[in-house]
Amino acid sequence: MFEKILIANRGEIALRILRACKELGIATVAVHSTADADAMHVRLADESVCIGPPASKDSYLNIPSLLAACEITGADAVHPGYGFLSENARFAEILADHNLKFIGPKAEHIRLMGDKIEAKKTAKRLGIPVVPGSDGGVGPEDDAIAIAREIGFPVLVKAAAGGGGRGMKVAQTEADLLMALSTASNEAKAAFGDASVYLEKYLTKPRHIEIQVLGDGRGGALHLGERDCSLQRRHQKVWEEGPSPILSPEARARIGGICAKAMQDMQYLGVGTIEFLHEDGEFYFIEMNTRIQVEHPVTEMITDIDLVLEQIRIAAGGDLPCTQDEVNIIGHSIECRINAENPETFRPSPGTITQYHAPGGLGVRIDSAVYQGYKIPPYYDSLVGKLIVHGKNRPECLMRLRRALDEIVVDGVETTLPLFRALARESDIIEGDYHIHWLEQYLAGKPAKT
Ligand code: ADP
Repeated sequence: MFEKILIANRGEIALRILRACKELGIATVAVHSTADADAMHVRLADESVCIGPPASKDSYLNIPSLLAACEITGADAVHPGYGFLSENARFAEILADHNLKFIGPKAEHIRLMGDKIEAKKTAKRLGIPVVPGSDGGVGPEDDAIAIAREIGFPVLVKAAAGGGGRGMKVAQTEADLLMALSTASNEAKAAFGDASVYLEKYLTKPRHIEIQVLGDGRGGALHLGERDCSLQRRHQKVWEEGPSPILSPEARARIGGICAKAMQDMQYLGVGTIEFLHEDGEFYFIEMNTRIQVEHPVTEMITDIDLVLEQIRIAAGGDLPCTQDEVNIIGHSIECRINAENPETFRPSPGTITQYHAPGGLGVRIDSAVYQGYKIPPYYDSLVGKLIVHGKNRPECLMRLRRALDEIVVDGVETTLPLFRALARESDIIEGDYHIHWLEQYLAGKPAKT
């Protein structure tokens, strides 16, 4: 097992990793920018190192600084969390060159899945159903209109290097397509330094359903059921739950089995998420995330498996925690991502939290790094914390969620709490009847079902 882990992240996920390390008896090193000197993960870690100024590129993305921090503290492994360097294959390789363990998948798998065109080809080869689309990238030399006609309009232009919902444009008609191609390609070039784009059939009312997988890197792999992340704004997840309100145990076992088999064939190492759109009973692969995800607690609540702890154990050469038959889905869980944003305009609202009260009671979990008096810096994402609720079934989970949302207090900054209080009382949500465009239609004030 590792002796000392450097946590190359901040905020709630840094704290989440720290908790797993404490349970395993592993010493922790926090790193922080000058803007995060007062952060909770810095206070709770055994040691901390300042790695640079506020801008992420100079601190949390600064590989030489992180290596120096490992060297100074004698850390033997690095946990990247999510975002920042978590899906940077080069970082994983550099750590290996310095005799440091990257707590995550093999670099080749990170690289493969980081290119969505390659990821889709691999998924197809491994027997995973994919969204109909162009078989590879669509460049200026290709007849994009002919490809799109074959797929059928509307089509979605997506960036090969995409992430966080950026570099995606819908084309309803042939006339829209050329514009969508150039906008998506320019956006991708600016955001990711890679202008390659591809085409996919645009599904009109799908759900986003993702399968959590866990592999030992030696051909053993499991699936831990699904999370339904259909409630999104600008392709970003807002509310996640598991199990999906619409999936039968048979459908889960079938798609989960396909994913686990694919991970066995790849000899995948660590945690991963295979994301699908689901429409009319069919699953369509969109991408794979080769890291721990923001919404991982949903799976932890319904399987009672600590994903971050297992991630660390497996990175150290450990075995899978159980067999597929021993994975039981127990009850229902919902996670709300509480952001410091205006609940109507979603404008970020950094500032000082003047009052903070965390809700409690049976089945209520808060993953957050904020405290009363904490100043949310303007430089990073606006996640204040995640409220995760568990119940023996979906109605009980919703009941507890409403109660917890009424109890939580975060004052001094604007938050998205009012939105969640309203959502938890919406009839479509209560019935589990929603798709990936539901939330935007709801926010625009239109009847969400049409
Ligand atoms: P990113 O890496 O930017 O998050 P994804 O490929 O995971 O991109 O897609 C993010 C979201 O975009 C999906 O959850 C879904 O809401 C929407 N989306 C992606 N592909 C399609 C598609 N073919 N049709 C309709 N919506 C899509």
